[in-house]
Amino acid sequence: MQRLGRLPTSWRKFALCSGHDPELWFLVSQDGGAKAVAICTVCPVRLDCLDWALEHHERGGIWGGISARRREQMRAHARAAVGRPREASLGRSLEARRV
Ligand code: SF4
Repeated sequence: MQRLGRLPTSWRKFALCSGHDPELWFLVSQDGGAKAVAICTVCPVRLDCLDWALEHHERGGIWGGISARRREQMRAHARAAVGRPREASLGRSLEARRV
């Protein structure tokens, strides 16, 4: 996936979306993002990707298999539950608690 090419991260070389059409992750109206989410679900760097999106307040697209709307809900839930946590690793902590 082209959008990951700009990221200074080590995990991106393992991204399963690499080589796929980026529009699957950003233009989700046709299938609701189902194909992107299916790929993300088995991606070995899913939580790194989700943490990156949360940390950088990524407003669009599906990251770590999670939509922008759902990521905002995750951040809001975390703020309400524990104040203002560091957003890096927020995805991992929320996943662990099944929020
Ligand atoms: S979790 Fe999804 S968007 Fe993130 S790197 Fe993996 S395939 Fe790409």
